[in-house]
Order: sequence, then C-alpha cells, then structure tokens
Amino acid sequence: MDYWSPRIETMPVQDLKDLQYKLLKTLTYKLYSFSDFYHARMKEAKVHPDDIRSLDDVVKLPFMKKSDLRDNYPDKLFVTAREDVVRFHASSGTTGKPTVVGYTQHDLDAWSTSLARALTSCGLGRGDTIQVSYGYGLFTGGLGLHYGAERIGAAVLPASVGNTERQIDLMVDMNVTAIACTPSYLLHMGEVAEKMGINFGKDTKLRRAILGAEPWTERMRTRIEENLGIKAYDIFGTSELSGPLFTECAEQKGIHVWGDLALTEILDPDTHETVAPGEKGELVVTMLQKEALPMIRYRVGDVTTLHEDVCSCGRTSPRIGRIQGRVDDMLIIRGINVFPSQIEHTLMSIPEVGQHFMIEVDRKGELDDLLVRVELKREYFSDKIDDLMKIKRKVAHALRSSLNVAVEVELANPDSLPRFEGKAKRVIDRRQM
Ligand code: ADP
Ligand code: ZN
Repeated sequence: MDYWSPRIETMPVQDLKDLQYKLLKTLTYKLYSFSDFYHARMKEAKVHPDDIRSLDDVVKLPFMKKSDLRDNYPDKLFVTAREDVVRFHASSGTTGKPTVVGYTQHDLDAWSTSLARALTSCGLGRGDTIQVSYGYGLFTGGLGLHYGAERIGAAVLPASVGNTERQIDLMVDMNVTAIACTPSYLLHMGEVAEKMGINFGKDTKLRRAILGAEPWTERMRTRIEENLGIKAYDIFGTSELSGPLFTECAEQKGIHVWGDLALTEILDPDTHETVAPGEKGELVVTMLQKEALPMIRYRVGDVTTLHEDVCSCGRTSPRIGRIQGRVDDMLIIRGINVFPSQIEHTLMSIPEVGQHFMIEVDRKGELDDLLVRVELKREYFSDKIDDLMKIKRKVAHALRSSLNVAVEVELANPDSLPRFEGKAKRVIDRRQM
C-alpha cells in the first residue's frame, strides 16, 4: 500500500486527536490575539482560548458562515500581511455573490500535500498522465488539481473545460490515464467520444477519474464505471477550505479528511448539536493549519455523514460519506423534503433512463408542482406511443414511491437536455423567481 505521508496518514487515532487538539489550541490563541474578527466573535460567544481544554471543546467556539466572507468582501478576514498572500481564488458563486479567498505559500503547500496524499490513495503517481478538465482560473478546481498532480510526479495535461472534441483527441494521443473533472462533464465527454467513434475502454488508456465539485450518487458512479470501463473516485472541497482537498481512497468507502489539516463535525442544521455517529447532518470544518484565511467551525452547508472507524486501507483520518447536496438545495414540495440527489438516485435505477435530467418546480395556484424531465437512452427510444407511455408511468411511479410526492414526468429525446461543462445546474425553481 502506497502512502504519501505514511506517518500522518496511519497515525494512531489517539495521537491524531492529540495533534488536532494542539493545533486547535494554537489556532484559537493566534486568532484571538491577531484577528479583530475572531476576537470579537469569541468575546460575543463568551469563550476564551483558555476554555479550550480538550478537542471536544471545539463546540464552544462560534461558527463561521459564507455570509461572513460576503460581509467582509473581499479580504477583510485575511489574517496575514497582504505581502504574504501569493494567490487569490474566488468561489463559483453557485449560491450568490462569489467570495474571494487568499493563500500564503504555506497554504498552497498544504493544499498540494492534501491532494498528493489523496491522489496517491486513488492509486495515482509517477508515470500517470492526468488530464485536468476542471476550469483553470479563479475557480479552485483547475489549479488545485494541477499542483496536486505535479506534486506526486504525474504528468499534467491542463485541458481546462470546453473544446470537448479536442480534449478527447488529446486524451487518446497523450495516453491519458486519469481525468479530473465534474461527473457531468465526464458524462458529456463520453457521449461526444461515442459520436466521434471513440470507445473509452478500447481506444484510450483512461483508467481512473477523480470526480467532484457537484453532488453525484452511488448509482451514477456505477453507470460511469460500467459505461467507460474506469474507476471513479469522489473528490470534495470548497474554496473557503482551500479548494478540492480530499478524495476517497481505492477502497471507495468515503472521503478521507486528513486530521492534521481539518477537524470535521457533523451537526444538526437546526439545533447545531452533534448528530449521532453515522447520522446525516451539516458538515462543519475547522481548518487547523490555514494561514491567510483561517476557518474555525466553517458551516460548509453540505449534508453528509461522518465515519471514524479506521479504513481498510490503513488510513486513520475520519471519512465523510457522499455529499447529498447543500442544506439549501433541499426542495420543499408540498411540505415534503426532497433532495435533487434522491431524484438522481431513483432515476439511475431505471435502465431506460439516460444520464441526463432536469428538475423544474413551479407553483400552480396554491400547490407546488414538481416536473422531472428525463432523457431516454437511445436504445429505448421508440416511435410507439404505448411504449413511451409505459416508461413514463414507470418513472413517475418510481419517483413517487421514493419521494412520497406526486411527480410529473416528461420524456425527452436523447441529446435534448442541457449538458454542463462546469457544475451542473439541474434544478429550476420558478417559485422563487
Ligand atoms: P460555490 O459553489 O459555493 O460557489 P465552490 O466552488 O468552492 O463554491 O464549491 C464548493 C461546493 O461544491 C461544496 O460546498 C459542495 O456543495 C460542492 N461540492 C464540491 N465537491 C463535491 C462533491 N464531491 N460532492 C458533492 N458536492 C460537492
Ligand atoms: Zn481508505
């Protein structure tokens, strides 16, 4: 088994917790002393760094939210001198005005180290050619993966997004062995390749994909792995935490969140209490070593689970389960909570349904109306209205029984729904417009 930082990755659990405690204690003293923002926040919460006497005392510390970054736009929360900042990025702005983040050289090193461990754990290393098809630029995905992949000695093909046919040609010509991009972009590439007469399994050397930046389900993984003949690993991060940082290991049993870099909590989004082990809740992360833009108890807003048992790969850092979506992605349809990921999960269990779908919510009179538009797989597309009606009823029935809410289904021609190069935007909620 290959590890990038064996001592840290396989550190006995108690030693790792001791290390986390020391880092947390140092961090709180530093921010209490040197950051007006954190000083005021801690005063308000009536907590002093002296009150942090164990790792569990983290719950005494105040939260940070995206709105804190927005309110302090662009750089009022930076703690280091401006001259020590060597890079800026900005969030993609999925949920509002983008936020700006900054890095010292040490922050960039820690970010690349995190990804070096992660990519190594997915079986990548020297001799691999990694196509980075995340956007390069202000978005953290492209440059983040780029430096992580270089760190492990792999060769990087910095393809960025777009110009898909050229990307596929390069993948073939350069013997690319792994790709990093959003799951929706890889699906799109798969379709374009098919039209070009290129078979991923036969005509390329692609064996692994590092997919993230948007929610995707276990069933979508199965489809991607089977259709393309590759292994697909989940990668997670947000710009506030640095960017893409953590992935699953080859065991595919959750995303390892390196304990020396991050302290993970899962809380009930309403009561802010820690949920029982393995239960779903909101991800809250404290970055233990960040310099330019520290984060204490950052409410990431994503819904997931925490698993603290030691992974069969031997790594001792805790893992988070698949991200279900953001707390605020949850749609309330006639009083019933529905996550878009539940819809994907159900659709992907129906063989006739292709990989692309759209969710539209509207209000008709007093009632919420949920419309799911699904693309059929080409081989199931029929000109017999009876066949189509049968599939439509099957899809509506499956959705209704898994979501407990009536769903209107519309079948769409293959290739007719939108394709996405960056983060997919599959939900249109007209109730808020
Ligand atoms: P934003 O989209 O908020 O403007 P980022 O570009 O930093 O900012 O994106 C981070 C967000 O992307 C995460 O909070 C999460 O909602 C989503 N995300 C990233 N990776 C994954 C993943 N592997 N699975 C599900 N969602 C993800
Ligand atoms: Zn593992």
